[in-house]
Amino acid sequence: MKKELNISPLQSWTKADRPLIISGPCSAESENQMVSTAKLLAALGKVNVLRAGIWKPRTRPGQYEGAGSEGLNWLIKAKQETGLPVATEVATAAHVEECLRAGVDILWVGARTTVNPFSVQEVANALQGVDVPVLVKNPVNPDLELWIGALERLNRAGIKKLAAIHRGFSSFEKGPFRNAPMWDIAIELKTRFPELDIICDPSHIAGQRELIPFIAQKALDLDMAGLMIESHIEPSVALSDAKQQVTPSALGKILDDLVVRTPSTANKEFKSTLTILREQIDQLDDKIMQTMAARMKISEQIGNYKRDNNVTILQVNRWEEIIETRISQGNAMGLTSEFVNNLLKLVHNESIQVQQKVMNTAGQNV
Ligand code: PEP
Ligand code: MN
Repeated sequence: MKKELNISPLQSWTKADRPLIISGPCSAESENQMVSTAKLLAALGKVNVLRAGIWKPRTRPGQYEGAGSEGLNWLIKAKQETGLPVATEVATAAHVEECLRAGVDILWVGARTTVNPFSVQEVANALQGVDVPVLVKNPVNPDLELWIGALERLNRAGIKKLAAIHRGFSSFEKGPFRNAPMWDIAIELKTRFPELDIICDPSHIAGQRELIPFIAQKALDLDMAGLMIESHIEPSVALSDAKQQVTPSALGKILDDLVVRTPSTANKEFKSTLTILREQIDQLDDKIMQTMAARMKISEQIGNYKRDNNVTILQVNRWEEIIETRISQGNAMGLTSEFVNNLLKLVHNESIQVQQKVMNTAGQNV
């Protein structure tokens, strides 16, 4: 299977500096709401793309379901009044056709669509031979392959102006976020496809406006290429996602407060200091590997010994004692309980595997 995406980098088609800022309401609600929000966003001088949802089937029916086709006219009106390129979500071939006819500049595939290869393929087929930028949100469930699959389907349909949007993942357990960020999934995507730009959507991760600045800063510190933040002229009366939308002026403050760091610098002193620190890390990692290898060798000896004496591998008391003593030792050294716990679990699982292997080499004492 082809492992690369054939992509034009984000900056080559947006012509905007990093980070790319996409903002606008969750839903286009009226011409006045669209145009007035867009004008204030444009006046900030930092927003590159205006967004709005047109078709909004909600989690449960009977709520506001989006303006539909009429909303496209309001979005285009806002584009004409401000000069901002506009973006909206498409989920079907009919949406794609309407958007292209209306002159929408950027399309995005929503989280509820990315989960479904039938729908993604339908959208991809409708885009065959069209040179329009498409952003692909992560699927609602934490499945990296589905996210990649959607990007590949669009890429195979000839879409090169392609980027991903990280909007967090739905889970049954309710944490502080509406959608758990699970940053490691976005990092893994970037690691596998370094040519792919990822934009973070802190609004749908947060679910509440207060958390947006923190998530946005974290995204930039992870070198994400842009942010999509929902904004509304009057968030408290928004017809969808009211709690997570910010006013254009609040957005201005969020953007002003962000620290934009670069992945590297030409500063020589920085580079040599970093090299020294990285060498120290390399040496410590070397010690960790040697220690782990030595620890597993002892596990092997213990396995032999337990086998010869017909004793089980797992002894719960011993395991509990290890966890307890190591966590308090780790805490005293400034390590978090969560980290020590996770690390020990990994080591313990491996140790059990090593012992199991020895146990099952019937009675040959090595
Ligand atoms: C949206 O951007 O308004 C939206 C519906 O997002 P998601 O697909 O991430 O839920
Ligand atoms: Mn929304």
